[in-house]
Amino acid sequence: MATNGSIFGAMLQEFDGAARILNLEPGIWKILTHPKRQITVSCPVQMDNGEIEVFTGYRVQYNITLGPAKGGIRYHPGVTLDEVTALAAWMTWKCAVAHIPFGGGKGGVICDPTRMSRRELEALTRRYVAEIIDAIGPEKDVPAPDVKTNDQVMAWVMDTYSMHVGHTSTAVVTGKPLELGGSLGRREATGRGVMIVTRESAKHLGFEIKGATVALQGFGNVGSISAELLAELGARIVAIADWKGGVYNGGGLDLVKLTDHVRQRKTVDGFSGGDPLTNEELFKLDVDILIPAALENQITMENAQSIRAKVVVEGANGPTTPDAHRHLHERGVMVVPDILANSGGVTTSYFEWVQDRYGYFWTEKEVNERLEAKMCEAFGAVLQNSLKFRVDLRTAAYIVAINRVATVTRMRGMYA
Ligand code: NAD
Repeated sequence: MATNGSIFGAMLQEFDGAARILNLEPGIWKILTHPKRQITVSCPVQMDNGEIEVFTGYRVQYNITLGPAKGGIRYHPGVTLDEVTALAAWMTWKCAVAHIPFGGGKGGVICDPTRMSRRELEALTRRYVAEIIDAIGPEKDVPAPDVKTNDQVMAWVMDTYSMHVGHTSTAVVTGKPLELGGSLGRREATGRGVMIVTRESAKHLGFEIKGATVALQGFGNVGSISAELLAELGARIVAIADWKGGVYNGGGLDLVKLTDHVRQRKTVDGFSGGDPLTNEELFKLDVDILIPAALENQITMENAQSIRAKVVVEGANGPTTPDAHRHLHERGVMVVPDILANSGGVTTSYFEWVQDRYGYFWTEKEVNERLEAKMCEAFGAVLQNSLKFRVDLRTAAYIVAINRVATVTRMRGMYA
């Protein structure tokens, strides 16, 4: 597989570093660096103007050694097979770090959902699902929402699959509306996981979360819930920036008022409870904790030198470039990697799948308690490996993940 300049190539670089430390045998190395299955489909849809458009869709099942493939479906004009394959690989490692019985998958359709009607989106979703129907299912591959797909799209996925198999099958997909077998606590799960690993990092580094200062980039699903839950622990949320700008208040931002402001203005920019702040300034703040929870590639060699936080918790996927990560590690800044830090979402997706298969639903308290236990277990395993092999937490997370998948691969043996 060609890897030059590709996203999949970037995934392989991270993989190789950890595999080398583990002394992974060449055969297993080969297996774990090849996608198990890549499906490409053409989805004809009659548009509202009567014309027929054909959309290209992908579903990649990178590795299903530990269980059914798990991963979102994204709708975006820039979707490529290379990107979907890399994302499916990252899901494999994320599920393995989280210690849940799932492999890694990802799907994508090349389209611009912002320019499509609800009817067109439903037609596209149903046709895409029909095209990949033999490959998905509660035992095979369980999709979820991703960029520009939501619980309504998941409801259409679930309905289309159910119509094909002839009975209602809620466990085929997660991230569903509650009424359709969704899980309590799923919406808050990623932010809750971020809060838990932040709290555990502070414990490890020996500082109190109570009174610690926090700056966040992003105040969407992940950022806002992380901020809220850290504030509940007594942390002081001093700065938040988003797509339009940011706000700073050394005494701590009033999150209730800020949430209200964002509901009305769709941005934290212009909030009267603090001083204006740019995204560039946010990364330079003298805070204890920095949480990038917006986009990829936000911490680069341009701003890594100015970061003064003790710990960076990657709420977003891929917010730190590899060279910036190396720089932070060398300077002694702890970076909690994305595949660990934001794995609360997929862990609660696993809980949703379990509840659907049982047909018995847990209280929010039960979901949160189970998430707490899983996140602490994952953090502990990664930290232990980081100390054992004297490596950064990202490499340690890969070591944990690769070890788990490789062990089961060896036990299962080679089918031929
Ligand atoms: P979201 O759309 O709810 O929020 C995104 C936030 O980022 C918003 O506050 C937005 O204003 C901000 N933002 C957008 N462009 C920006 C820019 N150029 N500069 C600064 N801020 C910008 O998204 P989300 O669900 O909170 O996801 C955030 C990140 O977390 C993504 O990387 C996503 O892949 C990752 N993630 C999310 C989940 C989940 O369960 N939602 C799970 C795992 C990983």
